[in-house]
Amino acid sequence: MRLRAVVLGAGFGGLECCTLLSDALGEQLDLVMLDKHASFSFGFSKLDMMFGRETPEAIRLPYRAIAKPGVQFRQEVITAIDPAARRVTTDQGIYDADVLVIALGADYDQGATPGLVEGGNEFYSFAGAERVRSMLPAFSRGHAIVGITSTPFKCPPAPSEATLLLHDYLVRRGVRADCEISLVMPFGTPVPPSPVTSAALLAAFAERGITFVPNRLVCALDPARRVAVLDDGSELPYDMFLGVPKHRVPEVVAASGMTVDGWIPVDPATLKTRFPGVYAVGDVTSVGTPKAGVFAEGAARTVAEAIIADIRGGARPAAYRGVGSCYVEFGADRVGRVDVEFLAGPPTGRFTEPSIDLVAEKLQFGASRRARWFGSPPIVPVAADG
Ligand SMILES: Cc1cc2nc3c(=O)[nH]c(=O)nc-3n(C[C@H](O)[C@H](O)[C@H](O)COP(=O)(O)OP(=O)(O)OC[C@H]3O[C@@H](n4cnc5c(N)ncnc54)[C@H](O)[C@@H]3O)c2cc1C
Repeated sequence: MRLRAVVLGAGFGGLECCTLLSDALGEQLDLVMLDKHASFSFGFSKLDMMFGRETPEAIRLPYRAIAKPGVQFRQEVITAIDPAARRVTTDQGIYDADVLVIALGADYDQGATPGLVEGGNEFYSFAGAERVRSMLPAFSRGHAIVGITSTPFKCPPAPSEATLLLHDYLVRRGVRADCEISLVMPFGTPVPPSPVTSAALLAAFAERGITFVPNRLVCALDPARRVAVLDDGSELPYDMFLGVPKHRVPEVVAASGMTVDGWIPVDPATLKTRFPGVYAVGDVTSVGTPKAGVFAEGAARTVAEAIIADIRGGARPAAYRGVGSCYVEFGADRVGRVDVEFLAGPPTGRFTEPSIDLVAEKLQFGASRRARWFGSPPIVPVAADG
């Protein structure tokens, strides 16, 4: 039996799903993977680019390198999804499928935070991180705030990592003594599911003179007065604001009628939506894990195994458990790791102390995905597209 599948979105979830389906089903598969961009980049690469460890060109992994049996990549903008008919419309055509896997991630709504566009800089999009990269060399004095404007947001440790890497960057330039750094977070601790990780991050902030402002969101910036307004009405003056913008599903997902309270609900064990033959994985869902690539990847694995079992017969996959390991940049050329589990009971997290060994392990994490999803290097740079 041939399987006609459309995978919507070629991020962490889409790439993992296509790879596993192609490996198992090969030419039995007739799979189209759609993405509006020409290339993928890891979320964590944006931090590398912002602080000058990598160039924008080096972190773009072009989809044209993908050559997998049964898979075609098409760079098209998805303009409509009809989940009942399993029909996807793009700016270039219409696709009907036996199975849809929706892996369209989260978009940003910068306009939701008054003053953010005029008076601050978000660093979560590729373009935003690129702007921060070009702006940072001019910041030599004053108060830098890293602030979250809304929940949920991707990769909860990333804002903490940004402050620690900013500290190192300013030390390297010899201007740290003239700068203050604050982190405004909506949680009581930096990584709530792991008190030990949180304690280590708070200790790292204290050692470096970084101010942690817990249980607060930044709800507006007043660019004229250069103040960030917090959700309790208090104000913090700033000279540079690095923001995590409000997240939302892509417009086309909202218009599809699949969302409830802003995100696509799924059965957490199977990632099935309420529409037969339609799965959703990763940041676009409200599955109950944080929004992070490792969870999108794990969910995609469960979905691919279920689709393969449907075609081939054999054992059904175990229920998705929301398990993942997140690498956390601690600065000073050290990376820590937190192993978390979300869906089998109350969230748990196990911390491994920052080390040079974990720097290598994180590099290996990226390299292994790059090899599996794109084939081996070398990666040829592509033009900027988002
Ligand atoms: C600064 C930063 C650091 C991070 N660090 C980590 C980390 O260390 N570890 C970790 O696990 N996660 C990290 N993340 C989070 C991680 O990047 C995301 O959670 C992950 O990419 C989500 O995977 P996904 O497959 O759900 O969506 P994405 O990877 O976002 O993929 C969605 C795809 O859908 C495409 N798309 C959207 N709308 C359309 C449309 N209308 N038509 C066509 N294509 C469309 C997009 O172009 C995109 O390629 C980080 C994120 C940031 C911003």
